[in-house]
Amino acid sequence: MAANDNQHGPPSDMERIKETSNYLRGTIVESLNDAVTGAIAADDQQLTKFHGTYQQDDRDARLRRQHKKLEPAFTFMVRVGIPGGLATADQWIVMDDLSVKYANNTLKLTTRQAFQLHGVLKSNLWAAIHEINAALMTSIAACGDVCRNTMATPNPDASTIHQQVYEATMDIARLVRPQTNAYHEIWVDDKKVLTSKDERPPEEVEPLYLKHYLPRKFKIGLAIPPHNDIDVFSQDLGMIAIAEGDRLVGFNLVCGGGMGMSHGKPETYPNAGTVIGFCTADQLCQVTEQLVTIQRDFGDRSNRQHARFKYTIDDRGIDWLIGELNSRLGWQIESARPYAFESNGDSYGWLKGIDGAWYMTLFIENGRVRDAGDLRMKTGLRKIAELGLCDFRLTGNQNLILGKVASSNKKKLQKLLDEYGITAVQSTSAARLNSMACASLPYCGLAMAESERYLPDLMTRIETMIKEAGIWEVPITIRMTGCPNGCARPYLAEIAFVGKSPGHYNVYLGAGFTGDRLNKLYREGIDEETILQELEPLIKHFAAERLNGEHFGDFVIRAGYVKPTTAGLNFHD
Ligand code: SF4
Repeated sequence: MAANDNQHGPPSDMERIKETSNYLRGTIVESLNDAVTGAIAADDQQLTKFHGTYQQDDRDARLRRQHKKLEPAFTFMVRVGIPGGLATADQWIVMDDLSVKYANNTLKLTTRQAFQLHGVLKSNLWAAIHEINAALMTSIAACGDVCRNTMATPNPDASTIHQQVYEATMDIARLVRPQTNAYHEIWVDDKKVLTSKDERPPEEVEPLYLKHYLPRKFKIGLAIPPHNDIDVFSQDLGMIAIAEGDRLVGFNLVCGGGMGMSHGKPETYPNAGTVIGFCTADQLCQVTEQLVTIQRDFGDRSNRQHARFKYTIDDRGIDWLIGELNSRLGWQIESARPYAFESNGDSYGWLKGIDGAWYMTLFIENGRVRDAGDLRMKTGLRKIAELGLCDFRLTGNQNLILGKVASSNKKKLQKLLDEYGITAVQSTSAARLNSMACASLPYCGLAMAESERYLPDLMTRIETMIKEAGIWEVPITIRMTGCPNGCARPYLAEIAFVGKSPGHYNVYLGAGFTGDRLNKLYREGIDEETILQELEPLIKHFAAERLNGEHFGDFVIRAGYVKPTTAGLNFHD
């Protein structure tokens, strides 16, 4: 099949922007230097995504500013991907400093093991990104039509093979990082920056992406069973580590996961990836490269709503994908090996790793690190970082692990966790501990409803029912997003709320607790009171009639509330 058969029309405008950008340079520097506006030029707004920053505006202030005939309050989100989630204490301190100097004095830990700064003014954008690089971090490829931050299980109790999986993660992260010099020219070197009119340096190539990069974003993640804490089935390309004893032998390959869809467009749908086979650990980079180039060559470049890997695969079939992969490799991938997941959440509290060190997994509600009332999370974590006694591991569920703590230092860290109120918030319902929300309002331009600012309050009301039903300790995955793009992976939650309009949400039920089955629409566009009226009898029914060990997502299917979703293609059935 020819590499352009998946096009449904002329290339989208984004393809023009990439093509004429001189490898992601565009006129970003001119835009940054334009003191007349807090915004950047339209094409540059697309290109800066590849550099890890989005232009946004404060939507709470939009109307007020409109009335005063002011331009929107433009600011920038800066995302710093941390492959495998492993950051040092010094890097935490730098991010904390930047959040004070340039952002809104909070840090967002994302669902892809990244830091986000919100509210950065254009005049501070260069300094923020420059200082991130000085701390040996980068924002390159945190957004845009490229492979995003490579995720990996950070759970400590799998640590015998964790190191091997971490090395594989870093190999992949290096492989998929864009090679253009544009990022360094603009944000790091402070030398002459080429423009779209200059000839690019002859040595500059993008061997993996070529001139047009990918048709859309491409997400890669590595999971270590029994922990599916990176939601391997949500990734465009997921890898499930297969170990024999303490030795990593290879990975099952999961292809075509993806969360985004649009309301009212049934041709768009979320998908849980399919396990297509197995390769050895040595073969992983070669296989990754070929799968990315298959999507590069066959993905739809005309319709961006049909451009993710899941559609490329569904249009042609899994057998086509495996055939194309084997043909590009020149050898055949093997059959998938057995594996079993237990959950897609995090395991909280102190755990002793197999390496003898201690690991403290902390619940960070919706990934927002800030001081609020008695919970002085931000100050407390800063104090801990300043001691330099642990590393900081970002989980795929917006939580944080204080890692590699020597036994002799454990008490010292625990004392600080107590002192700053961080211990107290760990004692909450198992449902809240398994909840996540995307950033949404006020900054996200796509948000249709509140998410991160609202879910904690909704959870409090849901917890009342949970307590009355006597299932406080029963984990239920609950996720909310402000729009159907699915940044908090809502379609893999047992209960999901997806924003439809201000104060109104679609409710989805019935995903698998291990993150292997999508949920199904249950109620459409309902407000808080209706949500609670709908959930109360379900929760009571679940508490009364659940089978031993049965999870909520399985129960609502067994009890007939929703049909199971067996593939993205029947998500809307
Ligand atoms: Fe914004 Fe939608 Fe993503 Fe939430 S899910 S952060 S509202 S794009």
